[in-house]
Amino acid sequence: MATATIPWDTDREAPRAKSVILLVGDGMGQAHRLAGQLVSRGTSGRLAMDRLPIAGLMGTVSADPDTFVTDSAAAATAMATGVKTVNGAVAVDPNGRPVSSILELAKRAGKSAGLITTCQITDATPAAFGAHVAHRADQSEIARQYLEQSRPDVILGGGEDFWYPAGEPGVFPDDPDPTGRERSRGTAGDLVARARELGYACVADEAGLRAAGGPRLLGLFANQELFRQNSEGRGDAYDPIVSLADMTAKAIDILSRNPEGFFLLVEEAAIDRMAHRNNARLALKGVLELDKAVAVAEAYAATDPNTLVIVTADHECGGLAIAGSNDPAYPYEPGAGAEGAAAVDLAAEDGPFPVANAAHHFVMGWATTGHTAAAVPVTARGPGADRLLGTYENTHLFEVMVEAMSLAVRVR
Ligand SMILES: [Zn+2]
Repeated sequence: MATATIPWDTDREAPRAKSVILLVGDGMGQAHRLAGQLVSRGTSGRLAMDRLPIAGLMGTVSADPDTFVTDSAAAATAMATGVKTVNGAVAVDPNGRPVSSILELAKRAGKSAGLITTCQITDATPAAFGAHVAHRADQSEIARQYLEQSRPDVILGGGEDFWYPAGEPGVFPDDPDPTGRERSRGTAGDLVARARELGYACVADEAGLRAAGGPRLLGLFANQELFRQNSEGRGDAYDPIVSLADMTAKAIDILSRNPEGFFLLVEEAAIDRMAHRNNARLALKGVLELDKAVAVAEAYAATDPNTLVIVTADHECGGLAIAGSNDPAYPYEPGAGAEGAAAVDLAAEDGPFPVANAAHHFVMGWATTGHTAAAVPVTARGPGADRLLGTYENTHLFEVMVEAMSLAVRVR
């Protein structure tokens, strides 16, 4: 490996961020953010994530030969490493070669690092920051690489199944639980025991999280996701035993003790998983859970202004549109006759949901149960945030974080 000069860091005084907190709403497009605002703050109030002073627009297409619509693995790889890759690939380039992540570069610079999510902590988004595998399904290998290679100081989320040996019980029941028994699915031995050997405190409930003091912490709070993804009223649930905001607060508490600073990824995953089910109610809850974590990050940044806070998404999910629930058809526009009105009636809609502080209601219309190629909003504050103004591709996020923390890029 050789240390290269950063090509985009030549002609300007680099802003210095000691720490970076990157908050990702998986699948969260502009309409998801707007819906979260309407239901909680109304038409003129703003979510914490939309009160950040800098805003930009980020393209998400992947480098997959079969499609340009990204999955979470390729999108996270682009943000984490600055390299576009094929769908399913985790921090490897299209030829399968590992590429360094922002988390790894921060660790090499002496900073601390953390990964947090509301789904499996070995799922694609956090994985691209702390592991290198050809396919995202290799979740026990991802967990093993966290412990033995990238070594995030704080690891908090779900998916204990991949940390305990296949066939052996973990802490949480299988979900759904057809046999009444718990069988784990790990393929890399007992990784919770391995984590303890390596100095991690291992916790599995709220009391454990609250009591944990670091410096290394592994918290696994669900068999798989910290929610149950399904369509409305069909076994859907989002009542985690620990909240994303509480995990974020604990991680910042531990990581901020390092005088060199830290990198922290915080992912809210239910926005995407519920959008895949066109479950507006719980996709909305996901947006609001993420926003509480943003408020925690913002409160920390207010005490340590050398912190770059970025809120974005890996891609849009659902092709979501927001409309008023009682809006009249538009008969005065040329061409919108009876056929146009019928098309409106046929749209797949959820709601109506009340607009906070107003007499209005809104509906959420879905175009698809999959991802879309729509650009996603980026909001930010702190040193280097002004480089996120404008329109750019998701690889730019990596460049901005590297430059802000003045990290040396290693070329493999
Ligand atoms: Zn998805």
